[in-house]
Amino acid sequence: MQEASESFTNGVDWSNSAEPTSHCWLPYSSETSSTSRLCACILCKNRKSTSDFPLIQCATCLLIVHATHLSELEESTTTDHHRIPPCRPSFVDNNIADNVDMHDQHYWSHVSTLSTPCTYCKRKSSDGLVCMWCSRSYHRQCWENIKDNEENSKCDYGKFSNIIVRPQWLRRVDDSPFGFRAQMPAYVEINDTSLTPVIFFINKLSGGQKGQEIYRMLVRILNPRQVFFLENDSTITRALNIYASLTNTHICICGGDGTVGWVLSHLVDTFPALKNPPASILPLGTGNDLSRVLCWGYQYASGQLLKTLSQIPHAHPTILDRWRIHIETLETNSSNDESLNRHRSFFSFIDQPKFIQNADQPMYENHHTPINMFFFNYISFGLDAAVVLDFHARRTRDSSKFTSPLKNKLMFIKESRKYFNEFAFGIAWNLGSYIRLICDDQDMTESIRHCHSLVLLNTRGFGAGTHPWGGTSVNTVPSQTIDHSDDDSSNHDVTQSTINHFEAQNFGDEKVEVLGLNTMQMALIHIGFRGTRIAQCRQVRIELSHPMPAHMDGEAFYLARSTAINITHAGQVMVLRNDNR
Ligand SMILES: [Zn+2]
Ligand SMILES: [Zn+2]
Ligand SMILES: [Zn+2]
Ligand SMILES: [Zn+2]
Repeated sequence: MQEASESFTNGVDWSNSAEPTSHCWLPYSSETSSTSRLCACILCKNRKSTSDFPLIQCATCLLIVHATHLSELEESTTTDHHRIPPCRPSFVDNNIADNVDMHDQHYWSHVSTLSTPCTYCKRKSSDGLVCMWCSRSYHRQCWENIKDNEENSKCDYGKFSNIIVRPQWLRRVDDSPFGFRAQMPAYVEINDTSLTPVIFFINKLSGGQKGQEIYRMLVRILNPRQVFFLENDSTITRALNIYASLTNTHICICGGDGTVGWVLSHLVDTFPALKNPPASILPLGTGNDLSRVLCWGYQYASGQLLKTLSQIPHAHPTILDRWRIHIETLETNSSNDESLNRHRSFFSFIDQPKFIQNADQPMYENHHTPINMFFFNYISFGLDAAVVLDFHARRTRDSSKFTSPLKNKLMFIKESRKYFNEFAFGIAWNLGSYIRLICDDQDMTESIRHCHSLVLLNTRGFGAGTHPWGGTSVNTVPSQTIDHSDDDSSNHDVTQSTINHFEAQNFGDEKVEVLGLNTMQMALIHIGFRGTRIAQCRQVRIELSHPMPAHMDGEAFYLARSTAINITHAGQVMVLRNDNR
């Protein structure tokens, strides 16, 4: 029985056997439903749920049935499909005649009590009809009285009409490997920007159970075929292929920085020349740096989903750079080791920072290669990355200790204490001994002589909400700027003229900001101060003479031998900035 229930509870059916009125089955959960928990199949003998006969529920129309009825239907030779009522249509079959009259009709659900007043007589209480698109309700008799008026019978899709993918825009086609294609019908004006259908990508593992909750909410209020659970690359490829020809499509990525980077990279590769549907973000991760930068919020709060849905159509399209890292192995340079030994003799209490000595630690074993080769926010090397890497390695080994945002914070503080010596005796070591920094073919190693972290920034956001480059970004909404760089006393060595030769930060200018942080600045950036600006350039080469931890868009990894990292510009993507918060 269990097997049967699982094979039918995968959400939207995209197979060849899908019908326009197919349901979107998910396991039944009493917490997510206020409806009765009885099977709706008209031939059912015992309509209750038992362990042998579990119930499943359609996330769109909230219908509940026993999972077994679906396998009975599949095996049955008769075409008796009326045993289970149909769902709200989600697409049209190409072979059905293009009948304009069947479009934009209310889709009624029968309810025992109207929860909102009848649209016609303004009274509540007795049973009636509720439209599953626009949420309008009528008493059955009231509807009978007015339904022949054409204006009344037409559904306007309610509050979210501008972002809903209407069933008649999505067709089954034979000439695509994905079986479906979305397109606006001829009668919709090509310049009509009031319609901005939104495609959702949801990481179901993000934010505890939040991903699941958001999925259930979206497939109920929108067309379930515009909502995708992210499973693998082909989920994204299929969705982008189906919706590539739909005019004015927008995208919303629900997840953390990793998820956002994953989908954005697909957009860069699929749509050259900034032709991609612009993407917004619903932040479900822990850092959410890009979401902060684009003003979609720093953490998901309940109720935020509906607000975000109404903000997406009014958000401002803007260009975001993508950067590629290419890692090559370096021949070990013995002269570097000599300089290290000399350096060591002066400060016997700290030989080398711990993260340099840790080359063969088994705890880093699973973190030797970055998950992907692109970043949209930042990459950093040195002490900051070491703390993040230890935190991630610990979380991989011992996930039970990392179950809430507060516990995560406490564990982060615990991991950073391991580097007490490196923080306290920062004067005894610096990154210049281990890193050679080349910005646009110019050797800038001298500028990191007093630094303990090296940071390359694309956007202004780094490490969950800090802005270490400082100053106003071209991409900033005016109310967003809080900057103490004028009273920053940690930059006495940088003259006013060198500060001024930098341009305002812009995440679409094909330049990356390079800056250094000493241990003091690593603390001060959290209260609005900035780091030491080094360069704004088009390519960076970083040669590591020793093993080194790195931190890229929320993911940390350990480069266990001498390597060179070449960082180059790798395309651009249209994203949406939410100016209406
Ligand atoms: Zn049943
Ligand atoms: Zn349904
Ligand atoms: Zn309606
Ligand atoms: Zn009424």
